[in-house]
Parts: sequence; structure tokens; C-alpha cells
Amino acid sequence: MTMRIFDPHIHMTSRTTDDYERMAAAGVRALVEPAFWLGQPRTSVETFADYFDGLVGWEPFRAGQFGIRHHAAIALNPKEANDPRCAGVLDLLPRYLEKEGVVAVGEVGYDSMTPAEDEAFAAQLALAVDHDLPALVHTPHRDKARGTERTLAVVKESGLDPGRVLVDHLNEVTVDLVQGSGCWMGFSIYPDTKMSPPRMVEILRGHGLERMLVNSAADWGRSDPLLTRVTADAMLAAGFTDDDVDRVLWRNPVEFYGQSGRLQLDESEPAATFEGNSILRGGS
Ligand SMILES: [Zn+2]
Repeated sequence: MTMRIFDPHIHMTSRTTDDYERMAAAGVRALVEPAFWLGQPRTSVETFADYFDGLVGWEPFRAGQFGIRHHAAIALNPKEANDPRCAGVLDLLPRYLEKEGVVAVGEVGYDSMTPAEDEAFAAQLALAVDHDLPALVHTPHRDKARGTERTLAVVKESGLDPGRVLVDHLNEVTVDLVQGSGCWMGFSIYPDTKMSPPRMVEILRGHGLERMLVNSAADWGRSDPLLTRVTADAMLAAGFTDDDVDRVLWRNPVEFYGQSGRLQLDESEPAATFEGNSILRGGS
């Protein structure tokens, strides 16, 4: 059985075609790219519109050239929720949340746990309810336990079914909290910080495979889009079966994002085409 991998959280806009090529060779067949911050702060709502258009237009086309199905999650990220210049992004979201290929609201949640973040987080969970979409929730990298507790309290208050919420960037300290909540559990595997493949294998041993998702969260920082595959190989080396790997690296993300009703995984459907730029038309 050939391995099939669905990366449920990766920022391909920051990556090269070499990455797409290596990912495809490693077994990655589908992914979800959540909207996030770009390092350099954005100064107007219009630049978000351009970014979101890229996530539902150009990037799926780029992925399709390597046989990878690209889907997006759209949101105002927690960090930029603190910038008053970006507040209008919340009004822009409903238009994007109706688009084909948008399978969740995300990533939302907390960065520094400010009142502005509280407001944006709650407003966007309400949008997930309104648009009948799952939500991808980022947990803060500092003060993780308190941030995760507060995250779960806000999710509960939103009325969103916990089965439609993925709480991401978990570790040994926060996994129990989220497992008890009924939300899905996401783990970002990084080259040198946060989770590593061996630590991930231990968590799966201790907590089972249900509602567990593994992602590379690769972006413009030091990260590695192949760490989903490395984790799969580490699972096999530790005695997990091919079916266990398929469940965590493929069936779980398909089940979670499938709740949107918008996943496109059928090989018979045409991959994304790109028509936003006339210069590209008329080629091969
Ligand atoms: Zn991210």
C-alpha cells in the first residue's frame, strides 16, 4: 500500500515548487493552507483581499501542477487581530467563506491573549457557525496551558460543536485538556522546536489515534514540509501499522475537513485551473 498524506496545516505561499515536488514524492496528495500573518505586518484590508484571492486561486493551481489538492482556511489571524488597520478584514470574510475550496475558518485563536484577540476570535467562531464550516484554532506558543484553557472556554461559549473544531500546535502539556473537550487535536512537527516525530509517536501511543492530526505547519520560518512523512515513518518504526498511519495522516484530516462538504479529493474531478492572469493563458 502506498502511503497517502494529507497535511492539514501548511503555508504553501511561503514555499517553493521544489517543496511541492518533494512533498508529492513523499506521498502528500492533499493539504489545507490556513490564512496567517506574513512576518511583515499588513497595513490595509485590501492586501488581505489579494492574499485570500491567492489562497483560493493561484496556490491551488500551483499545487495542482504536482498532483496535490490544495484547500484553504480563511480568517484574520490572531496576531494581526491586534492591528486596528486590519479590523475591516472581518467584514471581508463572509465573501471568502462561501468560496469553493475554502474548507474552514482559520487560523483563529490567541497570540498574546489581548481583548482585541478575544473579540476577533469570538466573531470568527460565530462566522464558522453561520457558514456551517469547521474552525482551525491556533494556540499561543507562550503560556500554552493557560492559552489552551482559555481557547477551550471561548470555543464552548461559541456554541460550535467541538467535533467541528481543530485545536492546533498542541504538545504533551496541552493534549489532555483538548482530548477531554471533544475537539480535534492538531500537532505541528518542527525541525527543532515544539513537537518532534519521536515525541509525536509517544503522544499517539499514550492517547490513541482518534481525533489526532499531524501537520508540518511549514511556513517562512525554519520548518520542513516533509515532517508529516517523517512522523509516518517513525510511527511504522515504532510498531504502528500501515492502517494506523493512514488513519492519522489521511483519514482523520479527511474526516475533519470533510465536514465542510467542500473537500475535492476525487481524482476524476479536474484539478484547479487559474484564470486570474491573462499572461498565463494560451500556454500548454
Ligand atoms: Zn499556521
